[in-house]
Amino acid sequence: MNDKKTVLRKCVACNEMKDKRELFRVVRDKDGQVFLDSTGKANGRGAYVCRQNSCIETAFKKKGFLKAFKVVPPEDLRLLLLKEINR
Ligand SMILES: [Zn+2]
Repeated sequence: MNDKKTVLRKCVACNEMKDKRELFRVVRDKDGQVFLDSTGKANGRGAYVCRQNSCIETAFKKKGFLKAFKVVPPEDLRLLLLKEINR
């Protein structure tokens, strides 16, 4: 048994529940801005996506984020997330 607290969140692309630390948190704030929440504490509506190329592409292509936020996330965000994987 693992008694360390694992917080699970669902990826908007593959719909799998994963450890929060394996996911990116993306937030839409009250002004409708969609951005990467690197602190995990930003206010607004959050959605999660795996730190994987395939899930990020799916989240943008198959409207994963659009469904979660009701707004289209900026192309810049896609490029940023893809870059962040390789950091
Ligand atoms: Zn995923």
